[in-house]
Amino acid sequence: IERIVIVGAGQAGFQAAASLREAGFSGSLTLVGEEAALPYQRPPLSKAYLAGKTDARGLLLRQESFFAEHRIDHRSGTRVTAIDRAERSLLLSDGDRLAYDHLILATGTRNRALPVQGADLAGVRQLRSLDDADALRSAIADSHRIVVVGAGFIGLEFAAVCAARGLSVTVIEAAERVMARAVSPETSEAFRTFHEEAGVTFLFGAGVTTLEGEAGRVAAVRTADGQSLPADLVLVGIGVVPNQELAAEAGLTVRDGIEVDAFLATSDPAISAIGDCVRFPSRFAAGMPGGDRVRIESVQNAVDQGRCLAARLTGRPAAYDAVPWFWSDQGPRKLQIAGLAAPGDASVPRRAGAGFSVFRFRDDALSAVESVDRPADHMAARRLLTSAKRLTPEQAADPNFDLKALAT
Ligand code: FAD
Repeated sequence: IERIVIVGAGQAGFQAAASLREAGFSGSLTLVGEEAALPYQRPPLSKAYLAGKTDARGLLLRQESFFAEHRIDHRSGTRVTAIDRAERSLLLSDGDRLAYDHLILATGTRNRALPVQGADLAGVRQLRSLDDADALRSAIADSHRIVVVGAGFIGLEFAAVCAARGLSVTVIEAAERVMARAVSPETSEAFRTFHEEAGVTFLFGAGVTTLEGEAGRVAAVRTADGQSLPADLVLVGIGVVPNQELAAEAGLTVRDGIEVDAFLATSDPAISAIGDCVRFPSRFAAGMPGGDRVRIESVQNAVDQGRCLAARLTGRPAAYDAVPWFWSDQGPRKLQIAGLAAPGDASVPRRAGAGFSVFRFRDDALSAVESVDRPADHMAARRLLTSAKRLTPEQAADPNFDLKALAT
């Protein structure tokens, strides 16, 4: 392979480029990204950056000089509009064509739009990119009443930052609890309480039917049960959809994500895909409702898939098998999740001192661990999830049982 082109200059695309050079790839390496900025981290956008505790420079994955030093041709502000698989070339938004020997798709996801009338009013916003975060920082400064639609990670992190500033924040959620798809009822309950103590109001089981405007700006959020909540800023955080159209139009297999095999290859061996945009086979998903293939939205997954693919392309192929893990900072609380839980998995709480963890079991085997201000439990969990040693629910519940000793 002489020429590798990466589409998408986010967490996964950047990692693949950096790891390819680290592994000794000496051919040409092009990283095409539609955003204007150098590759940056998204997690702080809803945390420290939103709160004004770090600046845009602090988000960068590397400074500008890194790209020249490592001969990574970063083409920012450029969108890939089509893949010609027969020619092995790409069409770019600036009219250029770019040839590849191997193509890596790392196109990520985009936010799901709220499918109601008024969703296009001024003051209705989403959070995915640095541009979104900049717009929100100034919108918050002029807002008094904020409504968040969706009690997922981003909605709750945003709510926590706004509540800490003393703003009025109401979170509307269609499900009956916060982070319902991702965590146990016990963890949901704890976070609902944390947020309520910080001044956030929740409406559960509530669907948004209309966003009402005044002179083109959002003024209120109307719910299915007839309530009308005044709002001058609405953040919509109702999940994402994978950017898979480029792959689909090129005839690659897609199904809520670009389908890849255990080695992260698509249905065309000259094209691989990594990060938020892929659906891949995972032993951690065995027994989950969607079968044993998953699409994961996390920094861990983007970084580890970037590394795994770079190793294959430089002659060290290995199936992708990393333990999934994730974190979310909500106000002063840190939630860390290791593994993948299915909604029906049993919950075993473990409490000792500050914080707590909830151990999830599926068919009597540990499936995931949710830790709140318990980093040691989280680190032990990451090891236990791949260890041949079995943790029993009784051991998990016993605060005196030495998790670390079992894990090592
Ligand atoms: P992305 O980082 O989204 O990068 C994809 C890039 O591809 C984008 O820049 C996009 O513009 C570009 N692109 C798409 N199509 C094209 C095209 N045709 N041509 C050119 N460029 C294209 N994860 C955690 O683990 N912990 C957290 O606390 C956390 N917090 C988050 C907070 C926020 C506000 C957000 C938005 C995400 C958060 N995440 C968190 C998720 C994490 O950021 C993602 O999982 C990660 O960025 C995925 O990396 P990726 O490279 O797959 O996609």
